[in-house]
Amino acid sequence: MSIVVAGSVNVDFILRVTALPRPNETITGHDMAVAIGGKGLNQAVACARLGAETRMIAAVGDDSFAAQATSYLMTNGVDTAQVQALSGVATGVANIFVAEDGQNMIVVTPGANARLTPAMVDTAEPVIAAARALIVQLETPLETVRRALELARRHGVLTVLNPAPVHTEARALFGLADLVTPNETELAALTGIDGQDDASLVRALQSLIEMGAKQAVVTLGAQGCATLVDGALHRVPAFKVTAVDATGAGDHFNGALVSRLVLGEDLPTAMRYASAASALSVTRASADSAPTAADVGAFLKQ
Ligand code: ADP
Repeated sequence: MSIVVAGSVNVDFILRVTALPRPNETITGHDMAVAIGGKGLNQAVACARLGAETRMIAAVGDDSFAAQATSYLMTNGVDTAQVQALSGVATGVANIFVAEDGQNMIVVTPGANARLTPAMVDTAEPVIAAARALIVQLETPLETVRRALELARRHGVLTVLNPAPVHTEARALFGLADLVTPNETELAALTGIDGQDDASLVRALQSLIEMGAKQAVVTLGAQGCATLVDGALHRVPAFKVTAVDATGAGDHFNGALVSRLVLGEDLPTAMRYASAASALSVTRASADSAPTAADVGAFLKQ
């Protein structure tokens, strides 16, 4: 029942400032937090915390962040045998400025993530072949994402493509995906349909299926998520919680969703569980907010 996540590892530097700097300006920040992240790592940790046997295929650099990220994965129970440390390369970094008015400015330097090659995925073929599901996102090169999906398909492994951050070229990969999981903005970018009402959501989800995906789930923030069941819209409302920090909600959702699909749950049932896990994650301020299976179980009993 194992899950393989092929994707990114980043170190996030979150700098709080009064106002965003202008070109050539030097400003003083209020504080800085360092968080281990990247969509791939977040989704792998989400799966592992929920009890799934999880392996990650990724590339890190040869700096101190690489060791921190790898030990963070291991502490959370993710198998890192396929996480390669590349010499002479920096680990992926995201510099995030957050101003008092909530505006932000982000520079992502992919570093080692850009060096995750199809050949490295080929090396991990036995790991993919032995898995129940593969999850990929778009923070690593598209040809690498393609190779991971192709290998998983070849071995009958469930393929899940979270098309984030959105690249329209990823539409060419949908034919290799059993499930695609965009958020609202990504859905609009991929289909050109705004998805603002039920009829439009149905058209947008159908359009993903026409592009080749077998099934599609769209996440709609506090509005929950939706899929098509026998061609009709099936909405799962979000759980009502006091949101503190919605960063990474989509990653928690994806990890939780797949952790249930590999147990044999049907899509609507897994969507409800993923809604609970992601709702719990948004109530927590820290970046390290992935819930455990026990947390989700207690939340669902409330
Ligand atoms: P992303 O982080 O990719 O933008 P979303 O914002 O769509 O993803 O959130 C993913 C899921 O997290 C939603 O489908 C929902 O189940 C849950 N979620 C997000 N924001 C909230 C919220 N404010 N309250 C409850 N659940 C939320």
